[in-house]
Amino acid sequence: MHCPFCTFSETKVIDSRLVGEGNQVRRRRECQDCGERFTTFESAELVLPRVIKSNGSRQPFDEEKLRSGLLRALEKRPVELEQMEAAIDRIKYRLRAGGEREVHTREVGELVMDELRELDDVAYVRFASVYRSFQDVNEFQREIEAMDKHRAEKDE
Ligand SMILES: [Zn+2]
Repeated sequence: MHCPFCTFSETKVIDSRLVGEGNQVRRRRECQDCGERFTTFESAELVLPRVIKSNGSRQPFDEEKLRSGLLRALEKRPVELEQMEAAIDRIKYRLRAGGEREVHTREVGELVMDELRELDDVAYVRFASVYRSFQDVNEFQREIEAMDKHRAEKDE
């Protein structure tokens, strides 16, 4: 990169070391022209997409909101916190891996339902019923059937 002091284009790395928990590299650089030294930090860009709400507004991804939604669905259910945290990590991973800058809130909801379906049926139905705000009893019934089918396939 260019020297921040004189903008000369050649700088030399004179020291490089891992910092944090190894997820960042700190480099000491020296300008080949003016001789000034400066430090750069390099880390992987792990940006979560922004969330487009149903009313069209955009918000930064809110992990706490995701967590509280999961906690509500999993209340008094036999699911360990670690399992829930692992589910949150997988959801975040899938959002990042998608590489989209923006996702619709319903896409996030679908990822949550994928996870809850594996974790706990009751939590899944709780979340789905709030999230999808089922239009009618038939729709709710179809969801239950889809869940049973999914279970049957998993058990085969
Ligand atoms: Zn320089």
